[in-house]
Amino acid sequence: MRKFVAPAVAQVYLATLWLFLPLMPLFASILFRRVKYLREYQGTLKKMRVHIAALREGPAQHYFHDVMGRASVVPQEVHGQCVQCGNCCMDRRCVFLETADEVTYQCGIYHSPFRKLSNCGSFPLNQWDIERYACPSYTVSAVIPIRLHTASNQNDAQVSEPLPIR
Ligand code: SF4
Repeated sequence: MRKFVAPAVAQVYLATLWLFLPLMPLFASILFRRVKYLREYQGTLKKMRVHIAALREGPAQHYFHDVMGRASVVPQEVHGQCVQCGNCCMDRRCVFLETADEVTYQCGIYHSPFRKLSNCGSFPLNQWDIERYACPSYTVSAVIPIRLHTASNQNDAQVSEPLPIR
């Protein structure tokens, strides 16, 4: 069902963003409690256009298909530590992304609880997520089922017992 609904909802969401584009700097300032988005109105508007265009390339649909109501944290089988390359921030086209120094970036709304509810809160969700942004630092470990051995299973018990030290 999500397969059919998510693209349609994503289109409505994107159309709404375009419709309210002139008000976006104001909304962003209120929602994320940062007056700079309104103070730098023209600049924010320009970045917002780029942001919405980037959302159209997949992130909006990914949100309604995989994230909304499902995932708000990075899954346990995903390991790594962010090196702040900005790749996953829609290839550095996110309106909220800021430069930290010459090679790294930081999120301008990292403090906001709303950020956790977005795609960012659960990135990377899986191998596909890592690959689509060429994330250089996260990996997914294989999930290996654990087999418990019982005393009634003689063969299994022998395998699970440590070898005697000679
Ligand atoms: S792509 Fe990976 S390393 Fe780069 S900012 Fe995103 S999470 Fe961090």
